[in-house]
Amino acid sequence: MDGTMKASYYEGNRVLSVKETARPEPGPGEVLLDVAYCGICGTDVHIYHGAMDQRVAMPQTIGHEASGVVAGVGPGVTEWKAGDKVVVRPLDNRGETAADRGHSHVCAKLKFIGIDSPGGFQESWIVPAFTLHKAPEGLDLKTAALAEPLAVACHDVRMGEVTEGELAVVIGGGPIGMLVAMVAQAAGARVILSEVNPSRLAFARDIGIEAVNPLETDLPALCREKSGGSGADIVFEVSGAKAAALGMTDLLAIRGRIVVVAIYPKPVELNLFHFFWKELKLIGARVYEPADYEQALELMAARILPLEKMISAVYPLERIAEAFAALDANPEGMKTLIQCGGK
Ligand SMILES: [Zn+2]
Repeated sequence: MDGTMKASYYEGNRVLSVKETARPEPGPGEVLLDVAYCGICGTDVHIYHGAMDQRVAMPQTIGHEASGVVAGVGPGVTEWKAGDKVVVRPLDNRGETAADRGHSHVCAKLKFIGIDSPGGFQESWIVPAFTLHKAPEGLDLKTAALAEPLAVACHDVRMGEVTEGELAVVIGGGPIGMLVAMVAQAAGARVILSEVNPSRLAFARDIGIEAVNPLETDLPALCREKSGGSGADIVFEVSGAKAAALGMTDLLAIRGRIVVVAIYPKPVELNLFHFFWKELKLIGARVYEPADYEQALELMAARILPLEKMISAVYPLERIAEAFAALDANPEGMKTLIQCGGK
């Protein structure tokens, strides 16, 4: 496993370069992965915009939604061997302490691989062995690259304790909102997706999700109509829009739940009277746990979700700068993947 490889680097100020570099050797507990595909996340776009420069050590390889093939293992790694097809759960919890109460996925010293340490937009990538999950037999690695965002959706739906027949509203039809809608539907919920963008509304309807524009449709009334007057059982707030946060409590039935998936960097106004009056519950959901990855991989293996349709564009690693620029120019697409190698 010697020689050189190509890697991309975020250099700050919307610059992504691609350079030849030495192919690394895995150390103890590490695996060398030949990255097949790595998806561009909203977080990667934030990094590209310079919004996270205080956290990213430039020049740095970013990317955390990867599938690939094991190329080699370091000392002490017995559970993986060259040729294994895998996906990466990019959480490094090695700084976990007792104060984290066993919640390693959100431990205080959590390092997010691909942000706090080098990521997957490169031909070969060194990752800790404990971050890997086996890709489903026969699944192509392009679809497998959606495991990370799908695991986010599985976590959100699990945290929301969605049950068969419940009425669920997903606010925000970006890639994560779309996946949350799919997973909630697969869990037996009746889903309404709320989105203002016409092309995203059309995309949702095309894959069998009921989608409405809340500027045109009275969403609280629609929720009551579909629930015998009660309101929705659960709302997933995925939009990050202040108006959505303020309005979400209008949609819910008594004892309804809200799962906050979107990142709100600043405090926003909520209708706390609704929480009191209807005994509502507010639940945060940040990343995922191993069980969410296993569920995401099971859903992929079962081939019941229209995941292939989520892939809007694929660019080779050499053209990563073009891929980011295209996303900037047209942010309405679902998932752009970077093909890093392994044709
Ligand atoms: Zn992501």
